[in-house]
Amino acid sequence: QTSMKNMERELVCPVCKEMYKQPLALPCAHNVCHVCAGDVLLQHGYLCCEPTSEPSSPAATPATRSPRLGRRAVPKPDRLDRLLKSGFGTYPGRKRGTVHPQTVTFPCPACQRDVDLGERGLGGLFRNLTLERVVERYRQTINISAAIMCQFCKPPQLEATKGCTECKSSFCNECFKLYHPWGTQKAQHEPTPPTLTFRPK
Ligand SMILES: [Zn+2]
Ligand SMILES: [Zn+2]
Ligand SMILES: [Zn+2]
Ligand SMILES: [Zn+2]
Repeated sequence: QTSMKNMERELVCPVCKEMYKQPLALPCAHNVCHVCAGDVLLQHGYLCCEPTSEPSSPAATPATRSPRLGRRAVPKPDRLDRLLKSGFGTYPGRKRGTVHPQTVTFPCPACQRDVDLGERGLGGLFRNLTLERVVERYRQTINISAAIMCQFCKPPQLEATKGCTECKSSFCNECFKLYHPWGTQKAQHEPTPPTLTFRPK
């Protein structure tokens, strides 16, 4: 039981607090989901294509090269994924113009260090396939165990995917994120597997 808990802790992405999806191995030996890594970089101003903010947004990005011409070609919401695959990601064939020439610094959310990713950015990282397989196997294991429901969902409740010892509650992914926003104190709560042993008073 305890070993399972310890295991899950290692399978949870420090950004989305969910179990890793396509984890990338960072040079600091931590991992982040492929998509989360892209999010983190975007949040830190690394834009590899036109911004997707609303046209009215005054937050013009420093990376905007041809603001007027490029505006129309705003990628769709799933852009990040495609974008990661196209050139910014781990896939070898990168397209011209999508990768930044400057060195990319990745603020690792796990160790809080700025990790130097070099010029290739996420493209220089390896996908942690071992970890990915462990996550997959772990998912299958927890799926067979009895369902624990999220204590925060409005009905219909979702199945809990995480617990928090500090909050003494079990959460679905969404509610966990909601109650542990990134960048706040609560974000440091370590997710555990969902459990029923936190009894409400
Ligand atoms: Zn993640
Ligand atoms: Zn790290
Ligand atoms: Zn919920
Ligand atoms: Zn908590």
